[in-house]
Amino acid sequence: MPKKKGMMMASFSLVVAASLLVGGANVGAVASNLESTSEIESTSVSLAATDIPAKFKPSVEWVWKNRIVKEGSTNRKNLIFDQIYAGKGTLNYVVRWQSPKNLTLQQRKDMASMLSRQVNNWNKQLKGYDGWPYDNITVKIVGWAVANPSQILNKQSNENVYTDAITDDLSKTNPNIPAKLPVAPDALSRFEHFTDPNYTYPGGLDKRFDMYLWGTANFQGGAGGDWGQRMSDDYILSTLNSDEVHITEHEMGHGFGLPDFYEESDRPPGGFPTPTIMWAGNSSKITEWDTWMLRYTWSQVKKDPSRFLAR
Ligand SMILES: [Zn+2]
Repeated sequence: MPKKKGMMMASFSLVVAASLLVGGANVGAVASNLESTSEIESTSVSLAATDIPAKFKPSVEWVWKNRIVKEGSTNRKNLIFDQIYAGKGTLNYVVRWQSPKNLTLQQRKDMASMLSRQVNNWNKQLKGYDGWPYDNITVKIVGWAVANPSQILNKQSNENVYTDAITDDLSKTNPNIPAKLPVAPDALSRFEHFTDPNYTYPGGLDKRFDMYLWGTANFQGGAGGDWGQRMSDDYILSTLNSDEVHITEHEMGHGFGLPDFYEESDRPPGGFPTPTIMWAGNSSKITEWDTWMLRYTWSQVKKDPSRFLAR
């Protein structure tokens, strides 16, 4: 697949061309990744050492230098690292529900818990490492962007429902994709305002949202970037109670700046010492290699003294 400046795109066996189009059309210059993943069980996570073990060092350093730096994946100061700092240890989501399916109150509660587990599955790899200050991230769903407000069954008084919509260009080439694409207010979006240090969110910081969890009917594979994670509505609904949600975790990895590894030239010459969730199909869980790649990336991006100030 072609790579564009400022945008990482890659494919796996099931990616349809139309998915690539929507990624480009809807997320602009944002780092974005699209792919499908297959289910392969794999290794567990190590939280042990504070220095990178010798077996991980060559591959992790290679990926940093030859992929992340070259592709500029960490240049935008809106990585999940940045989002967590700006939110003082919190991450706020809006669920963008591009689907005709209703959502029960229980499903909505489970969706928030599922997101919290996935964010914290990544965050716990950083706990106690090289000055990372947040042992646990408070993850909230602060809004629901839907085609029809009646889809939010038994709506609670503290739930925000948004019904504005734009047209999804993907629907023009793939008639199975709903044309109506719900949106949350730009005024509340960190993605739209992170470059402006003086911006204040209407109602305060708690009211902003950092990312979308974006569920699209009939969507193939997944997409991820600093704007959030996109996959099919059915995939989200079928993984609400899973501990590690393969595609969701993988797409979050892109939000931290981690790349895909589809082509041989994308991968370290000596290979990986363990599987990695960022190589589609290689692992369905975060592995030791992912832990060290995430930690190494944090150690590098924190060197910018202007970047991680808010605490
Ligand atoms: Zn990917």
